Formats: sequence, structure tokens, C-alpha cells
Amino acid sequence: MTAHKLILLPADPDCTPVSSAALADTLQSIGLLGAASDINGATFYPTGDRFLQLITFLGCSPMIELEPPADQETLAAASRDGRFCHAFLECRDTLRFRSDPRTPTPRCPQCRAPLADWPTTLKSWRDDPANDHWHCQQCSASGRLSELGFRKTAGFGRTFVEIRGIYPSEAVPVEALLDTLKSLTRCAWSTIYIKE
Ligand SMILES: [Zn+2]
Repeated sequence: MTAHKLILLPADPDCTPVSSAALADTLQSIGLLGAASDINGATFYPTGDRFLQLITFLGCSPMIELEPPADQETLAAASRDGRFCHAFLECRDTLRFRSDPRTPTPRCPQCRAPLADWPTTLKSWRDDPANDHWHCQQCSASGRLSELGFRKTAGFGRTFVEIRGIYPSEAVPVEALLDTLKSLTRCAWSTIYIKE
């Protein structure tokens, strides 16, 4: 099974990563996250007491489960399937690309032609991160992979706040949350929705 995820990440992939401790402290101090907890050795964060003020839920009365299951076995399965709201933080030195299985092929920013060899381009970059350019076969433009747009279904980043237990596009971070992340990292933040 996979989970729907709301992922917050710096809009600029070159934004210098902060430590995960600093990120956790900040998000706990504003009440988005609660105390660190553990699922089979992985650190996760249950929701804090202001989670529902910092993430707005659209749509008609969505089912939002905030309480983690008490026993470890149910907890692991519920986390994997995204059956309750909780977060994982990731801060890394190297760039990571995260995408939804249904992310559309990105388009050339110059001529809007789909970059037909996208899977090959992405694989080349994964094999060797120095190969970080796309090339348009239609108009010969080129640029960095991280400059491409993915309509909120994918993104490149070094810092991720991953929130599970939401429905795609129904959970939206409020400005105050994005401003807090911006103050911490000195970069504007954006939002993507993926199923992983
Ligand atoms: Zn082009």
C-alpha cells in the first residue's frame, strides 16, 4: 500500500538544508508537530496541538484522524497507508527528486513541447547527479532539471516535511506555517502532493 502525502519543500532546490533537529524544533514550537516518536526505528512526529490551525482542510468534512494507533504493529501499517496524520522530516546534502506516479511529462519552458526523453534524462541524473540538464529536441533549449515545472506533483529538494494522512489537494498549509519555514531557511517554500 502507499500513502497520499502533502510535502512541503523549499521552492528553490539550492536552498541550504538546515538540520532536522532545527526543523523539528521550529515545527514543534509553533504546534504543528508533537514530540518525536518511533515506528520500527524511524522517527516520526504526531500532530501538535495547533496542527489544524496550520494545515487547512478543504472539501466536505474530510475524515481526519490525528491519534496514532497505540500498538506498534497497527501503527506501522497505519503509517504506511497514511491512515492518520503524522509527519516525517528529511534534511539531506544531496538533491532528491520525489514525484507522484501520475506526474505528467514536464514541458520545455521555452516552447512548451513535452520533454519526450524525460525518463532517460531523469535516469541519467540519478546515475550521475552532474548530468543535471534537460535538452529540448524541438527548440534546442536547455536548462537545469530543477527549473522544470511539475504542477505540484513532483519536485527536487534537500529538505522535506512529509505529512501523511491527508487527501491530495485538500490539505493546504496556511501562510503562517510557510512564513515560519521561510524564516528558518531563508527560502520561500512550496507544496506538492504525491502518492508514494
Ligand atoms: Zn523547447
